[in-house]
Formats: sequence, C-alpha cells, structure tokens
Amino acid sequence: IKDLDVLEKIINQGKNQSQIFDLLTQINLSHSQSEILNKFRNIIHYFFNYDCLTISMLNSEGKKANIKLVDGIKKNLPVSNDFNINGTINGLPYIRKVLINESSSKFNLFRFSSSERVISSDINFIGAPLNIDEKLWGAIMIENFSGNTFSDNDEKLLSLIVRAMEASMHWHTEYQNMYENAIKDGLTGLLNHKTFVDRAGEEIERARRFQHHLVFLMYDLDKFKRINDTLGHPYGDYVISTTAKIIKDNVRSIDLVARYGGEEFAVVLVNTTTEAAMTVAQRIVDNIADYNFNLEDKEVKMTISSGLSEYPNDSDRLKDLVQYADQGLYKTKENGGNGVTIYQSIVS
Ligand code: GH3
Ligand code: MG
Ligand code: MG
Repeated sequence: IKDLDVLEKIINQGKNQSQIFDLLTQINLSHSQSEILNKFRNIIHYFFNYDCLTISMLNSEGKKANIKLVDGIKKNLPVSNDFNINGTINGLPYIRKVLINESSSKFNLFRFSSSERVISSDINFIGAPLNIDEKLWGAIMIENFSGNTFSDNDEKLLSLIVRAMEASMHWHTEYQNMYENAIKDGLTGLLNHKTFVDRAGEEIERARRFQHHLVFLMYDLDKFKRINDTLGHPYGDYVISTTAKIIKDNVRSIDLVARYGGEEFAVVLVNTTTEAAMTVAQRIVDNIADYNFNLEDKEVKMTISSGLSEYPNDSDRLKDLVQYADQGLYKTKENGGNGVTIYQSIVS
C-alpha cells in the first residue's frame, strides 16, 4: 500500500495524472491474468520509452521462461514462446534476482535464443524479477535498441511498478483460489450444486434467446453405498472422482457438468437435440461399465443410471427439467440400472 501511495504521488506530479490513476484503479482482481498484465503494460508504456517490453513467467522446472506479453518491436521471438533463462538477456533478471540496468556490450548474450541474428548496435535494457509470495515468479524486461540508456530515476520507477505488480498478482491468485473454491466441488472439481442451478438458469435464458435446444442429463451411480460399506470411504471418494472425470471427458468444454449430490451428477448439453445427446449419454454409461476401478490393488466394476429431458420440448423451467431427467433416471433404476431413459418415453 505504501508503494502504491508513492507510485500515486509520482503519477500525480505528472501531466496526464487522471489518465494514469484510472489505469491503476482499473485493476480488477476478477480480471484474467493477461488483462492485469495489459494494465501494467499501459502504466509502463506511459513512464518508459522503449523499443520492446517483455513480461515472462518462470516454467515449473525453473530453467525456461514463457513469454506472457510483448509490446513494441516484435523480433527474435522464440517460436514456442519459451526461452532459456541461462545465456539470454531476457533471462538475466531470473539469474541475477535483482533489478538490472545494463548494456548488451557487457554481455555476450542473445535476447532469447542463440539462433538469433546478432543486432549490430548495443541494446540498453532495464529488467527486474517478479516475486510472488517470496517465490521467483517471472520477470519484466524493457529494452532500447538504439542508444537510449535508462536513468537512476527509471530504476526507482521500475522497482515501484514491480512491487505494485507483485501485490496485484498475489491478490489476483488469492482471488482466483477463493473463486474456484466457491463455485467448484472440492472432491471432483466439477461445478457445485448451487453454481449448477445458476449456470443452468443462464443457459436456459440463452437458449430462449437464440432458440437453441438443451439436453439435461442426470446420473446416479448404481448400488454405490456397498462401496463405502465394503471398501471404505476413501474408495468411495475415488469412485466418485473417477466417474466425474469420465463424464467430463465425454462432453464438450461448453457443456455444464456438476456434482449434484453425493454420487449424483447433472449435465447440460448446450445447443443439442435429444437424438445427438443420446449418443453422449449412452457412451458415458458404457464407459463407466467398462472401466476397471482400481485403488490399492482392489478392483471393482460399477454401473451408472441416467435420465434425459429436453428444453424446450419437455419444459422451459429448470426445476421441471431436472425433475423430469430424474424421473427418467429412476425408471432406469427400476429396469436394473446401467442405462439411459428419455423422459418422453415414459410419459408419451
Ligand atoms: P442406488 O443404486 O439406488 O443408487 O443405491 P445407492 O447405494 O447408490 O444410493 P444411496 O443414495 O442409497 O447411497 C448413496 C451413498 O453415497 C450414501 C452416502 O453415504 C454416499 N456418499 C455421499 N457422498 C459421498 C462422498 O463424498 N464420498 C463417499 N465416499 N460417499 C458418499
Ligand atoms: Mg446411487
Ligand atoms: Mg444417490
């Protein structure tokens, strides 16, 4: 906060104060990481004259960094967006771990990779590591390809911007974790019940506007209780999370998949008709029946039951659609499980 005050003071001495202050206040933790980095690009762009600005993030193995943002002259960029932190100018902040204000003439280094063509003139650069929660996270590199050097004041300014960035990225990560915990089920990573109700309601609204069809599928594992009773609760958890993964793997990323209850799952297939959805619904049932559940060398076979309802043919209300799919599901159970029942087939 103190850093931000100082930054704000510097900003207030400037000419376009309100414009820059707007940029800082626009940083919203619910934005994506790249949106936040873009806000900082704007701030850096205001304070620095540069030919190229690069923001990169350390890969998990700690030997390479991945480019997250490039602004200015885009040359020598590695094809994969990754570069080695050893032996490159852009890697220097990672290696030195402190702010660095230098000229390329002091180093025998390439910008990103040794396959680059050498630039004839010196590059002046100022760069700094970005630490989040005291861990090296990434780096920022500001380069000038034609003579301009960076001053002591530039160093001060960059370290203030770096600290504001570190704080923003820290709170952004915290926010994302909290958000994920609030919308997702902890065991399976699927949407939780409440989020499903909200999102499914939104999908019905969208389908109404664009005159799409939606298919609702409810799933419930057959005779699941015996798993807990004979193999223990952790085995039951393993079966639930594996089932979740199988369901998720069989639908598109735009479809909704939720843990509706203990061993019950709800799916909304977006912009789909019953005919096309039956293939998906049956494939999930078959994949569960074929799967060899195995934990600590104990192998088990499971089956699952499903029911299907359709918007708008069956109803245009979420409550009905879930209830009708449930009725289909219980019909499947009556018939011995391991299948799909279309709600229409039991009412017509
Ligand atoms: P049916 O074939 O009729 O569906 O019978 P069932 O045994 O599958 O269904 P029932 O609803 O009677 O049992 C569900 C059980 O799921 C009861 C509950 O203890 C268990 N359960 C609910 N949530 C969890 C969980 O998170 N982990 C584990 N291991 N078990 C759970
Ligand atoms: Mg069950
Ligand atoms: Mg149940």
